[in-house]
Amino acid sequence: MREQAFSGDPALTPIGVPLDPERTVSALDRFGAVPMPNLAWTPEVERATAHLYEKVKAIIPPVEWPFHAPYVKAINDLKKQRNAVILAHNYQTPEIYHCVADVVGDSLQLAKLAAQSEADILIQGGVHFMAETAKLLNPDKTVLIPDSRAGCSLAQSITAADIRLLRQRYPGVPVVAYVNTSAEVKAEVDICCTSSNALKVVESLGSDRVIFVPDQYLAKNVQAQTKVKIIAWQGACEVHERFTAEDLLRYRADDPSIQIIAHPECPPEVIAVSDFAGSTAAMIDFVKTKRPKRVLLVTECSMADNVASETTGTEFVRPCNLCPHMKRITLPKILDSLVYLKDVVTIDPALAARARRSVQRMIDLG
Ligand code: SF4
Repeated sequence: MREQAFSGDPALTPIGVPLDPERTVSALDRFGAVPMPNLAWTPEVERATAHLYEKVKAIIPPVEWPFHAPYVKAINDLKKQRNAVILAHNYQTPEIYHCVADVVGDSLQLAKLAAQSEADILIQGGVHFMAETAKLLNPDKTVLIPDSRAGCSLAQSITAADIRLLRQRYPGVPVVAYVNTSAEVKAEVDICCTSSNALKVVESLGSDRVIFVPDQYLAKNVQAQTKVKIIAWQGACEVHERFTAEDLLRYRADDPSIQIIAHPECPPEVIAVSDFAGSTAAMIDFVKTKRPKRVLLVTECSMADNVASETTGTEFVRPCNLCPHMKRITLPKILDSLVYLKDVVTIDPALAARARRSVQRMIDLG
């Protein structure tokens, strides 16, 4: 199989889609123009956002709140005016996750929940492939991403042409794509999967070999649990591949009682020294139900902040790795999205139908 050259350097990361001014103009035609709200820190803003500050005060110091609060109030007011909802991934910063988001979760949860909403506009607090997935499952809604340069090292490691080459090399072998892929890739594969259902999806295909793209580590972690031979692409999440077993063992040596829970995008040797591995949703569920005294979340840093702000009695130890793509989404950019209706996510309808089929096939598995 062709080796995948990936530097992991965010500076080299290709962007999502360039902003097409025509799409923004047509969205503005449809929903109308609104003025940019006043962003002063006033007693009214302080009053209107006090209940939201309560949710994040353990993470955001009081001195910083006057910078966030005017945006929080303006965004929440404008959401109502625009009939918009904000979908925030678990890796978004606390002021987004707790103060302006309407729906929070992993990428698939977000897209599925958005389909139940009556909103006209969905704003994706997350990266580009997530906005595309939201559009696939909500074709009649206007989907916006506040910064279309918010990419993902996994999604960018593979193209539709790569899938066609893999099919030539392994004729008849089914192809599973992690949801962290572009719509073009989803359109070429047989079925999608998430980190929580990857094993189930692989075993559902009734084949003794399966091509699994693009995450080599998720592929290895699935391989450890199945007899199906996995042919893996060599992509990686630039956040999770930085964790090492040695680091985790040092934390364990300092405190043998610490619970280490890891995301399956981490290398297998990291998973091997962890107490639990699961999707972001499963990790959150683990913390909320088991209530460990001390926990180390081996994943993107903001998730620990978000869980910590709503969990008492657990100390969070953070080997902090930030996703530079997730961090492109900020309150000022979300406000710009709402005011100027940008960046509009569009997918060619024929391609979207093929990509949606791969996502729907996974959803139908249950
Ligand atoms: S954390 Fe990793 S998988 Fe998630 S968006 Fe960032 S680079 Fe992609």
